[in-house]
Amino acid sequence: MAKMTYRFQEGKKEWKDLLGGKGANLCEMTKLDLPVPSGFIVSTDACRDYLAQESKKLSPKLIEEIILQIKHLEALSAKTFGIGDNPLLVSVRSGAKFSMPGMMDTILNLGLNDQTVHALSAITGNVDFAFQCYCRLIQMFADVVYGVSAENFGVTPTGTKSEKEWQQTVQNYQKIYAANTGQSFPQNTMEQLIIAVEAVFTSWNNQRAKVYRRLHNISDALGTAVTIQQMVFGNYSADSATGVMFTRNPATGEKGVYGEFLLQAQGEDIVAGIRTPEPIRKLAETMPYVYDELLKIATQLENHYQDMQDVEFTIEAGKLYMLQTRNGKRTPQAAVTIAYNLMKEGIISTETMINRIDEEMIEKLLHPTFTKEARQKKAIVQGLPASPGASVGQVAFTAESAKEMAMQGRPVILVRNETSPEDIEGMSVSEAIVTSRGGMTSHAAVVARGMGICCVVGCEALQVDESQGVAYFAEGQLKIGDVISVDGSSGRVYRGKLPLNEATTSAVLEKVLKICDSQSTLAVYGNAETPRDIKESVKKGAKGIGLARTEHMFFKANRLKMMRQLILADNPDKVNEALSYMKEEQKADFCQMYQILGELPCTIRLLDPPLHEFLPQEKKELREIAQDLAINSQEVLTKAQSLAEINPMLGLRGVRLGITRPEIYQMQVGAIIEAAIEISRKEKITIIPHIMIPLVGTVKELSLIKKSCLEVIGAQFKDSNMNLPFNIGTMIEIPRACLIADQLAQIADFFSFGTNDLTQLTYGYSRDDAHKFLSTYTHNAILPSDPFQHLDAEGVGKLMRFASEKGKEEKESLSIGVCGEVGGDPASIQFIQTLPVDYVSCSPFRIPQARLACAKAAI
Ligand code: ADP
Ligand code: MG
Ligand code: MG
Repeated sequence: MAKMTYRFQEGKKEWKDLLGGKGANLCEMTKLDLPVPSGFIVSTDACRDYLAQESKKLSPKLIEEIILQIKHLEALSAKTFGIGDNPLLVSVRSGAKFSMPGMMDTILNLGLNDQTVHALSAITGNVDFAFQCYCRLIQMFADVVYGVSAENFGVTPTGTKSEKEWQQTVQNYQKIYAANTGQSFPQNTMEQLIIAVEAVFTSWNNQRAKVYRRLHNISDALGTAVTIQQMVFGNYSADSATGVMFTRNPATGEKGVYGEFLLQAQGEDIVAGIRTPEPIRKLAETMPYVYDELLKIATQLENHYQDMQDVEFTIEAGKLYMLQTRNGKRTPQAAVTIAYNLMKEGIISTETMINRIDEEMIEKLLHPTFTKEARQKKAIVQGLPASPGASVGQVAFTAESAKEMAMQGRPVILVRNETSPEDIEGMSVSEAIVTSRGGMTSHAAVVARGMGICCVVGCEALQVDESQGVAYFAEGQLKIGDVISVDGSSGRVYRGKLPLNEATTSAVLEKVLKICDSQSTLAVYGNAETPRDIKESVKKGAKGIGLARTEHMFFKANRLKMMRQLILADNPDKVNEALSYMKEEQKADFCQMYQILGELPCTIRLLDPPLHEFLPQEKKELREIAQDLAINSQEVLTKAQSLAEINPMLGLRGVRLGITRPEIYQMQVGAIIEAAIEISRKEKITIIPHIMIPLVGTVKELSLIKKSCLEVIGAQFKDSNMNLPFNIGTMIEIPRACLIADQLAQIADFFSFGTNDLTQLTYGYSRDDAHKFLSTYTHNAILPSDPFQHLDAEGVGKLMRFASEKGKEEKESLSIGVCGEVGGDPASIQFIQTLPVDYVSCSPFRIPQARLACAKAAI
């Protein structure tokens, strides 16, 4: 086997597979000449090798390499490992390719034993320090290697003691260690090191790590690396400290360093949430020169990594050391803001900015907020705004009960004193997380931001007694199941359910999406017909309406009655009465649409569904209708029966309806044109009506309907003394239409792919019944995914390619769109980008995602 250990000087940031993220970045920082304590990394190769072996022992070859590396460290540091006056101490740190916060364990101060602790005490002249370090080693070792929790050792001793008293404490620690592990604490420091490395390797497969990987789709096969690094001591003296820092605010994305530090403390103290740390700007007062250096390093790292960094550092006796850097986890809001600002600052390109933003972020960003009035209400507690969002739910005090409540479909808010990695699953099902302890970098805060869950930490007035199922705050208490509202942007927690605002887009997101539009070649339209949805579409950035479904307008009370009269009427007068009523109603709708849209294009589809959808099933109700409309009830029953179909989706609908009942389409076209003329006149604009015929499968169908439309339009223009440009086009949603697209293009001004029907008919899957077998199909990999959600590029896509290419060949001016569910789906948009298509059209709420997806597809 090739070599299995690498010095920090040898690696680089690109080697995360081999050295883990933490190790690779320590190498990179070393290369950048930053103050990094020296060390080496045992590779993930070695981990995989170890896990594959029966013996679960490090191979002799690896041990030999480790010994050589330690010798090298000894030479570099002029210290000796396990013996001598100046003992070398190291940390043993885990680190996989992907950062898994709190998942795997770190051991500090390794190299201390009953002898070296005295040497450390002597050379530093600090007994308390040396013994404290030793106690911590014993405790961490027991925890990481044997799973014996730190609590068994009582509180970590601090303060001043005599050497004798300390020896007593250590003996006591070793007793507890032996009692709980069945082993004595190893005095041979090389043995300590080997056991520690084995423990890190083994921890790759602990339950917490597995759960985290499952939740984040990380492969179990990667393995972890182990970093062995010379110790520096944040607990050494009054001018020593340990800290964590983000180079920008991870909650809002604002520029400027953000973090916290603890004086006289070591490692984990800061994330454990036990002592409340100081904000980083305080360091500017305590140790200004260190603060300045930290700022300089922050800028250097950001420029080098071209992204916001999350760093860990330690100050030993006034000297700064960097212990870790990585791309920082952030909220969706921060992600968008940071990407945008980095681009503005010239650190990343426009393309990179767009690729750094994903559709899910936008979805989360568009989460609702509490109304302004609601936010005036008195909060029961106030903490730190760790992760934004506004959530309402029922209180749970343990991860277990959170999971149970979520299973019952209840929205849960997990309220705890603090969270730990065991709580991950419970956290992931919660709407929000509230803790009473810990800062902005506590476990709860980091995990919640990563998951995009609303979170408030450090509500000091709150005290959770999980065994009693109650939490106390100044003026009352909360019980399991109580409803609370959590505002992750202000850090306030309220009793009861607060009203929510409709989600709004943030100003930065607007700018980003504008930039996206400028990069895209596909435009994004909305599928909408109600004034509300049309306005929403425009607000979300739609360049027009790609599909307005007229049948959606027929289901209001009186209109439905008239529609039924139209279908069931027993004489021409009644038909005409219904038609003229419907025409006025439709015209009013279209006027409203054109008023909102102005000159933005709007494609109106003529009636599509089978007529019997407008009739009730029950005979009783049919009789009532007959009475209502004063039509012979027997006749109504017969008519309803004749309209009933075995396969309505393949029956009398779409253009077939237009041909058998021509008066319906003529009425609709009349209403469209009248509305367009009226609004064009009123607003002094030119509205171009786009009229779309659904379900066309033959050339004759289209040419007949077009002819009849043209007659109505001609008459209308003449009556009103006004001409408007107009378009008549066709849906392409039947495979046959794809195959004769060249001929259809001779007649149509535009095509619009209806991917729902096209998928249904290409596969022969009923859209309404396919769910019964689709999950079995995707589960057994018969299909890669649900083709109604993600366009089937191989089959349906081939038809679309053929049709769109033939169409454009025939008529260069032919405009082509895609409406239907997949028009808003990023994966489908990737494919659509490869076709000669002009726009996609989707539901209003998906428009922002679609704009981003179109830009990504284009760059
Ligand atoms: P995690 O992945 O949980 O963050 P780390 O390996 O980064 O674990 O270790 C946690 C903390 O331990 C570090 O942030 C740092 O404060 C401390 N630590 C690790 N190695 C050293 C070292 N060589 N000297 C001083 N402190 C260290
Ligand atoms: Mg760390
Ligand atoms: Mg259709």
